[in-house]
Amino acid sequence: MDSEVDKPSHLSVILDLSPTQWYLSARATNPYPLTIGSFLSQLLAFLNAHIGTKNENTLAVFGAFPGKSVMLYTSTEALVDEPPPLDANSYPPFRMVDTTVTRQILRELDAIEPGDEPPCALVGALTKALCYINRITLPSTSSTNVAEGSTHLPDPRILILSVSPDLSSSYIPIMNAIFSAQKLKVTIDVCKIYGADTVFLQQAAHLTNGSYIYLERRDALLQYLIMSFLPPPLVRKVLTVPRQDKIDFRAACFCHKNIVDVGFVCSVCLSIFCQPVPVCSTCRTKFPIKALQRLKSACPSPAPAPPRPLANLNNAVPRTTEATNHSTPGLR
Ligand SMILES: [Zn+2]
Ligand SMILES: [Zn+2]
Repeated sequence: MDSEVDKPSHLSVILDLSPTQWYLSARATNPYPLTIGSFLSQLLAFLNAHIGTKNENTLAVFGAFPGKSVMLYTSTEALVDEPPPLDANSYPPFRMVDTTVTRQILRELDAIEPGDEPPCALVGALTKALCYINRITLPSTSSTNVAEGSTHLPDPRILILSVSPDLSSSYIPIMNAIFSAQKLKVTIDVCKIYGADTVFLQQAAHLTNGSYIYLERRDALLQYLIMSFLPPPLVRKVLTVPRQDKIDFRAACFCHKNIVDVGFVCSVCLSIFCQPVPVCSTCRTKFPIKALQRLKSACPSPAPAPPRPLANLNNAVPRTTEATNHSTPGLR
C-alpha cells in the first residue's frame, strides 16, 4: 500500500476561461464574488502544491476559450521559447508554471475579438487532455528515448474548473470523452466554480470515479482545491474526499439537443429521441407504425391537449421510465 501511495501522479487541469462568465462571477452582487485574477492566483498556488508534493509529479494545463482550446502549460516539454528570467527569491519550477500559464492566458484573452462570444471549447480541451495523457502514459514503441519520465504513470487525472453552463449540443462528444477516460483509467474531477450545476460534468465525474464539487463558499477556493483535489486517486482510498450526493442522469436528445426527462431509445444503436420517430436518424432503422402509435398514445402528455413546445418538456414531464418494447426493430 505504501509503495502504491508513494507513486508519482499526473494532473491535467482544464480551465474554463469564458470572459462573460468570469465577468458575471466577479459582480459585487454575488454572495461571494470571485474575480479571474483572484482565481488565477489561487489556482497557481494549487498547481505549485501539486508539483511540489513530489519531484516526479507531472502537470499539464489546458484552457477552454470561446470557440478555441489551447494547451497552456506542460511540465514534460517547453511550450515557450524564452524561459522566464531567473529570480533568486523563487523556486524555478514554480516560477516556470506561474509565468507560462499567466502569459499564455493573457495572450489568448487579448486575442479575443469583441462581439458575439461563441461557447467555450470545453470538449476540445477535454479531448486534448485525454490525447496528452494517452501519449505520456503509452509512449510509442518507435520513439527511441523512452525516458524514465514517460514510463507508465499511475492514476492520471483531469480536473475541470468550470464556470459555463451545460452546452447541450456537446452531450455526445462529452459522453465519448467519458468513455475514452474510462478506458484510459483517467479520473475526471470537476469543481463547479460559478453558475448552476452542469449535468454532463456531474456524469463525467460519477462515471470515472472522480468527485464533483459545487463551490458554495467561493472565497475558499484554494481550500477546496487543496483538500479535495490535491490527493491523487490512490491516496483518496485512505482519505475521505467529498463527492456529490445526487447526480442528474438526464441525457440530451439527439434530434434537438434538449435535455429530456423521458426519452425514446433506438433499439438498434441506442440513440435517444425526445419523441417517437418513424426512422432513426443515426442508423436509419425503420420502426413499425404500430409500435409508434402505441408509444405515442403512451406518451406522458395528455392526448387531447395540443402538442407542447419541446422546451417545456424539461419541467413539465415527471421523471419516469418508459415501458419497454422488445420487438425488433422498434423503439424501447
Ligand atoms: Zn429532440
Ligand atoms: Zn438507431
